[in-house]
Amino acid sequence: MPNIFPSIHPLVAHKVSLLRDKNTEHKKFRELVREIATLLTYEATSDLILYQINIDTPLATTTGKVLSEKICLVPILRAGLGMVEGVWHLMPSAEVWHIGLYRDENTLKPVEYYKKVPVEPDVSVCLILDPMLATGGSAVATVDILKHWGVRKIKFVGILAAPQGIENLQNHHPDVHIHIAGIDETLNQRGYILPGLGDAGDRQFGTG
Ligand code: URA
Repeated sequence: MPNIFPSIHPLVAHKVSLLRDKNTEHKKFRELVREIATLLTYEATSDLILYQINIDTPLATTTGKVLSEKICLVPILRAGLGMVEGVWHLMPSAEVWHIGLYRDENTLKPVEYYKKVPVEPDVSVCLILDPMLATGGSAVATVDILKHWGVRKIKFVGILAAPQGIENLQNHHPDVHIHIAGIDETLNQRGYILPGLGDAGDRQFGTG
């Protein structure tokens, strides 16, 4: 499959197994989401563009490279919020844009209820954060909004994906790279990923 990058890192696999376990309590669950987000972002940012600068070390003058691309994070509310801190560990100056979508229980389609983005967006890379790529409806709608705002380089960073969600996102936006910790078997009738980890929002925020 083009543009899908499942992590093969042992630390990611280990942490996802702990996340799946129904006995993992909320505090630990949040820590794991944060840690996995950090590890996946390290992988997802391996192609960021750099430019060369001159540096004076205490001993000599040399050259180095720094990031030239401005980055924004777009957590899909609410489960994506738990991933932000993990990404900020690596990129503390990344902007965070908020786009709120909920899934209609009957149609399973995303409904937008909140949007807080800059008046004049000037970032070059957006990372969409959502632990679960289930039907893909929210991811597709979020990419639609970001492209409408002029963002050209968009990546999706998630923890578990269903094949249906990957297909949906790739059909609508084949240019979006998908960085994911694991690909599961399918969705149940309520749109939950199987075997999955349950409701990622409830398990982080203790509302389950
Ligand atoms: N959202 C979740 O939190 N879990 C799923 O399995 C699917 C969507």
